[in-house]
Amino acid sequence: MAQDSEAATTTVFDPVAATRASADLWRDARTLIDGLDGKFNIAHEALDRHVNQGHGDQIALRWSGKDGSQQDITYGDLRDMSARFANVLAAHGLHPGDSLFSLAGRVPELYAGALGTLRAGMVFTPLFSAFGPDPIRTRMEIGQANVLLTTASIYRRKIAPWRDQIPSLKLVLILGDDAPEGCVALGPELAAASPDFAPVPMESEDPALIHFTSGTTGKPKGAVHVQNAVVYHAFSGREALGLTPGAVYWCTADPGWVTGTSYGILSPLVNRVTMIVDEAEFDLDRWYGTVEREKVQIWYSAPTAIRMMMRAGAEAAAPYDFSSLTFLASVGEPLNPEAVVWSAKVFGQPFHDNWWQTETGGIMIANRPGMEVRPGSMGKPLPGVEAAIVEKGEDGLRECAPREIGELALRPGWPSMMRAYLNEEARYQKAFADGWYLSGDLALRDEDGYFWFVGRADDLIKSSGHLIGPFEVESALIEHEAVAEAGVIGVPDETAGEVVKAYVTLNPGFRPSDELERELRGHARKTLGAAVAPREVVFRNTLPKTRSGKIMRRLLKARELGLPEGDISTLETDET
Ligand code: ATP
Ligand code: MG
Repeated sequence: MAQDSEAATTTVFDPVAATRASADLWRDARTLIDGLDGKFNIAHEALDRHVNQGHGDQIALRWSGKDGSQQDITYGDLRDMSARFANVLAAHGLHPGDSLFSLAGRVPELYAGALGTLRAGMVFTPLFSAFGPDPIRTRMEIGQANVLLTTASIYRRKIAPWRDQIPSLKLVLILGDDAPEGCVALGPELAAASPDFAPVPMESEDPALIHFTSGTTGKPKGAVHVQNAVVYHAFSGREALGLTPGAVYWCTADPGWVTGTSYGILSPLVNRVTMIVDEAEFDLDRWYGTVEREKVQIWYSAPTAIRMMMRAGAEAAAPYDFSSLTFLASVGEPLNPEAVVWSAKVFGQPFHDNWWQTETGGIMIANRPGMEVRPGSMGKPLPGVEAAIVEKGEDGLRECAPREIGELALRPGWPSMMRAYLNEEARYQKAFADGWYLSGDLALRDEDGYFWFVGRADDLIKSSGHLIGPFEVESALIEHEAVAEAGVIGVPDETAGEVVKAYVTLNPGFRPSDELERELRGHARKTLGAAVAPREVVFRNTLPKTRSGKIMRRLLKARELGLPEGDISTLETDET
């Protein structure tokens, strides 16, 4: 009975109060989320809340299939689909806390699946569907997957050979009406399931999402996020992207990357926008046509895609009407100043860079709507986010002066911060010092509080006493009309310690030549000075990138030096 009296004196958990306590300024959280009598369910915030408030007929998801088919799914439809999905999970004996992994493209069932999983109180982990068998298997082992949602073809090719060796895996749900042996076809099960399933009330600190990092710097880590993260999804979507009810919003991220969940499913739905979802991959005319046809207002993309647009030239954009666009944002890699200026010219709006990580669960630093954009800067921390530039010294951390390069650090406490790296407690602990979370990125802050990305801590080049960030050199190179993309590394040098070496891909109409190489070095010398400019420029057809579109400089370096390539499970392009 002691337990009962203890329970009676425990105050009911208040999400708003907890959020305030965790960081001072989530001041409008009360209007952004509902809560379930002191408990949480992200699916409730994303769907049921809006349906209960009379918005069931608003389009939640306007979907285009690869084959050109179209489907409009309302908030009411998506709530029902996710409830059916939750019922399927329950019927197969799954419980709150169990884990579902998805390996699927941008199909409606993925959205219903993610939200159905959360509705059932289970933990959702998306993977890139293009992963090979090994990266899938390792991640499913680390994450103790209980359910896998995927297609028949992925299952046959990549999962079936080792499925029996993952004892935690109880159920494989296959998209469509037919399933290989030992799997369950989702189509008929969804059709037969009830569209009623009340969101399971969860504690704010219960795990809800696990996202694997992109593997740009090494072996990917599984970052654990909790139910309470939804407060930050709501808040940051509004603050950093300007998401408002009814806005037409298009996030182009792959569902396997954290952006595909935080800002490709949760933040937009919690903010009750109409999401444009295109199943197909990047295709210039298709993308421009989508913006025009759907009258996209808010567009969230990534530097790789933006550089592909630039490569095609302003002429390719000229036939399209972009007047619906009100806000463009970019994440994932540094956005070269050239891209900001170019996009403002071509779309009438610049891409606004913002910075965050899988670990932070949401946007931390941003060029927010209405802010003066400084091309090349990531912007300023969101309200309630305390960011600093620090340096590790003998007696702990020291804050750097304006314009001094140091490590970008954040004061933990915002709701969507990771709570663990799965099975890697030591690596998790190493990310904190003196009450700060250390991001592993180098940056500087100017006198006005704008943050400027310099490079990954691992990528910094030390040449004749200069500290050189690859981003600065890459940005200078892509200012040249011949250069589409650049990846810059430091290579050992007897006199200078390291010298800068650049790998570039070229725009259409340009061909590699010794003369162009000399010209690019000359151009960089003029912009950057001799100490910082690359000593050598190498032409490539492609640069090695992760599936989330990040240039893997460590791989350029390993190949340059003939060193082991390390974990390349997330590598997308592999042409040397
Ligand atoms: P891993 O941690 O496995 O090496 P990753 O860091 O690339 O991979 P993500 O969490 O997907 O995995 O990416 C976050 C990182 O991406 C940031 O730490 C930063 O280096 C880079 N990044 C994201 N947005 C920006 C931006 N706007 N400007 C510069 N860098 C960015
Ligand atoms: Mg990282």
